[in-house]
Amino acid sequence: IKDEITAHKTGAEFLARTMLNTEPDTIFEIGGQDSKFISLQNGVVVDFAMNEACAAGTGSFLEERAEELGISIKEEFANLALSSRSPVKLGERCTVFMQQDVATFQQRGASREDLTAGLAYSIVYNYLNRVVRGRKIGEVIFFQGGTAYNNAIASAFARVLDKEIIVPPYNGVVGAVGAALLAKEKMLATRNVTKFRGFSLEKVNYHLREFTCKACSNFCHMQEFTVDGEKTYWGDQCSDKFRRKQQSEQKPVIPDLLKLRRELLFAEYEPDVQGKATIGLPRALYVYEQFPFWNTFFRHLGYRVVLSEETNHRLIRSGTEISVAEPCLPIQAYHGHVKELVDKQVNWIFIPNTINAETPFKEVNSYYCPWGQTIPFVIKNSEVFASISEKILSPSLRFRDGKNAIAHVLMKTFRSLGENKKNILRAVDAAYLAQNAFQHTLQKAGERALRMLRESGKIGIVLVGRPYNIYDRGMTLDIGNKLRDYYGINVIPMDFLPLDSVDISDVNMNMYWNYGRKIIAAAKIVSQFERLHIIYLTNFKCGPDSYIKHYITRASGKPFLTLQFDGHGNDAGYITRCEAYLDSKGALRVWTSGSDEAIRPKKIKSVVTV
Ligand code: SF4
Ligand code: SF4
Repeated sequence: IKDEITAHKTGAEFLARTMLNTEPDTIFEIGGQDSKFISLQNGVVVDFAMNEACAAGTGSFLEERAEELGISIKEEFANLALSSRSPVKLGERCTVFMQQDVATFQQRGASREDLTAGLAYSIVYNYLNRVVRGRKIGEVIFFQGGTAYNNAIASAFARVLDKEIIVPPYNGVVGAVGAALLAKEKMLATRNVTKFRGFSLEKVNYHLREFTCKACSNFCHMQEFTVDGEKTYWGDQCSDKFRRKQQSEQKPVIPDLLKLRRELLFAEYEPDVQGKATIGLPRALYVYEQFPFWNTFFRHLGYRVVLSEETNHRLIRSGTEISVAEPCLPIQAYHGHVKELVDKQVNWIFIPNTINAETPFKEVNSYYCPWGQTIPFVIKNSEVFASISEKILSPSLRFRDGKNAIAHVLMKTFRSLGENKKNILRAVDAAYLAQNAFQHTLQKAGERALRMLRESGKIGIVLVGRPYNIYDRGMTLDIGNKLRDYYGINVIPMDFLPLDSVDISDVNMNMYWNYGRKIIAAAKIVSQFERLHIIYLTNFKCGPDSYIKHYITRASGKPFLTLQFDGHGNDAGYITRCEAYLDSKGALRVWTSGSDEAIRPKKIKSVVTV
């Protein structure tokens, strides 16, 4: 199975090289029903977006408006629009409003020229504001899809962006050209017999069934095609329900490091053990890194540790409703985790004010983000938690100041609960030992995985980001596991890498964010392995990540894929992005030597531009 993004990119690159003597870094694709945006770096898909449900801004929308005006969409529309002197301003509203606006301008006597030109601009603004949405637009822009036959739209793009827009030849079938090239490549390499059923659809025995999937609140309108007994499905917004699980013939050569880490992190968690009181830990933020530390500390003091459940939709929704000021998703979800612990009626809830992290690079700060630092105060001041604020334990922790400083602070907090000094010191010692042992095991497993990858010559994907994104399956839709399970990808989460041995001062002299330094260190390690690549897992509204991201290509020397999560439960868009990225890295075409070069043509002809 090939995704549309890879097909469009492959077709565009083929036409660019064989006919236009160029190489696109940006693809605008507007078809009859949907539209896509693809950003490329050295032939690798590094970002991608599709329009959402609304049809405004697509070819069918334009065709309907042209019909209402009695204008042929073929050439007449563009000829009229291009001779307009004062295009009407239709903005970029949804289809129904746009229809009314066109009618209003028409009644006021707007000319057909100005109406058509206004519609052309509205397509462009709609696309830029609802599909591209601030993503980087490059310098070699291909405009393809059926709508690109309309010169007025291409011209409106060129004017709005003040950039050259290239409409490649065969613009209406570029995706099909790409799909054909990919199929040809596989056929030649595998010497398989074609399964193509021919062009005569009437001779194909197929059955179509339409239904609504009710497995979640999306209620997707599904189409089930049965062709010679084989079923395929269209219309789903997730990858879990109807897609085949194993989509690639290849198997990973390294162990499942995400699973290993999950098992190690929670290995000592025993929620049913007896204790003198219960301490609740929200299963969020730094608990995804420090659970061995806190679990050991509290257990040594005789408490029963209780975690909130894994992040899920219900919990995110509850957190979103409670939180004020619309913070990032992890902070919203955090509120839901605290609420769950309150409902579980634990005696105490541990929400530390974690200010900074331990680091071997003492000359630079190692802060946690302000949201992470201030979370206990945010929670205590929330109306919903006002009645339990006395139950919240929130010592201020500066891990970079070392064990004695941490012991001192914990002493203050827990002596007030009646703990004696000796026990607290012993618990701190044990906590440090447990945390170090956890990290040591990760490092050893990472070393082995890198060795196996090097020996096998296989591609590996390093997941970079914050632990509460990479390892919280509910937060990032379990994408890491899906890469491994669906595509046989060798996945290495970044804290399996020797991050503390990498100096990043040549990339950023003053990276004062703890995770920022680690993320850049991971990118520098990737630069040393030709076949390692990066997927960056992050959230909308994450200020530090939007800054840190800029250093990744410089540190790794490679384009990378960013997946930004927003708490919506459908992974189909993320999966498509991953497929396109993995494919352009050669990670999915196991029958090739592993790169796009295998199907890149060499011939070059002339350039067509608008
Ligand atoms: S998102 Fe998936 S599970 Fe939900 S309704 Fe659509 S196909 Fe069904
Ligand atoms: S670093 Fe980003 S994701 Fe994490 S708490 Fe801060 S803003 Fe939120």
